[in-house]
Amino acid sequence: MKYSYRIFSVFGISVELHITFIFFLLLVSMLGLANMVFWLSIFAVVLMHELTHSLVAMSLNIDVPKIMLTPIGGLASIEVPEDPKKELLISIAGPLSNFVLAAIIYMVFVFTPLDPISYGIVLEQLSTGSANITDPTFILSGMLWVNLILGLFNIVPGFPMDGGRVFRAVLALWMDYLKATKNAVRLGQLISFFMVIIGLFSNFWLVLIGVFLYYAGNSELQLVKIKHALRGLKIGAIAVKDMHHVNESTTITQFLKLIAQPNQNHYPVSDYNDKVIGILNVQDIKELNKTDIDTLTVRDITRRHFDVIDANLNAEETIGKLLSKEFWLVVDSGKSIGYLTPQRLFEAANFYSLIGKKQIIQATV
Ligand SMILES: [Zn+2]
Repeated sequence: MKYSYRIFSVFGISVELHITFIFFLLLVSMLGLANMVFWLSIFAVVLMHELTHSLVAMSLNIDVPKIMLTPIGGLASIEVPEDPKKELLISIAGPLSNFVLAAIIYMVFVFTPLDPISYGIVLEQLSTGSANITDPTFILSGMLWVNLILGLFNIVPGFPMDGGRVFRAVLALWMDYLKATKNAVRLGQLISFFMVIIGLFSNFWLVLIGVFLYYAGNSELQLVKIKHALRGLKIGAIAVKDMHHVNESTTITQFLKLIAQPNQNHYPVSDYNDKVIGILNVQDIKELNKTDIDTLTVRDITRRHFDVIDANLNAEETIGKLLSKEFWLVVDSGKSIGYLTPQRLFEAANFYSLIGKKQIIQATV
């Protein structure tokens, strides 16, 4: 099942709607046209915010493949390098775009006879259905408040929100990057805890954002830990080498009796010339019935599409990519030498962080 749908592309970035966002829009549309327009313009502002992050990242030679819009905000896929100065620039750009837009709207109020209406009145007009979406005062006031609130909310140092990223980047100017991340995540989780508590008594949205931040902070910390543990290693060094192959003509019964191993879930499938033509995923066998198991061969359930990665690539630089797929065939000069799965990456990272610690202990004794 697809979880996100591409709506358009801008500056080469694919802008996608998360499936929950589509349900959310359907829900909002039931509240009337004014609410629908108001929420759509909030997400236009969110998109502008994410695009600003993305454009700054792209100007620093960082790829931005997509921006995803969800009911709790936008997410730009930016793989920020371990460079505090770059992270600082990218993170600050988003909230800054909101403050700049708010300042421009404020200037319109200063130089025209229009007077802004308060946030409370904007909300009241929306909830009572008296909002006039063709009234420039209403539109401009709404946008002024939306930009101010989004800008201010994002500079709260709740990692991985922008403010939290700025906080980590500033810490990383002084201390080790992993330590800076640990501290930023700790503060972020404290803030997310308060968001949930405050949200429970005021706004359910805040509860969702708090929970999301808690887990997102944790997973980013894990990512940094893995990167540091695998620093300097090649893909080939962490791949599982003890890999069993299977020939395409093997029957499923033979495979289960003779080849299947308890600790290997994916098997490269070779043809008669020993060329890998696909991957057998053990999960696919679990879905077969008894007759299929007796009659089919491995060829019938081989997945023809599989991902290949070069053994000579740097592990640290490819972690994000590696974690995004469940199985990678590792090849060296066109020959398969092993495989990698996210689980293997976690195990390898655990192992190498222990080795690293041991060296430190030996050095200090
Ligand atoms: Zn942002």
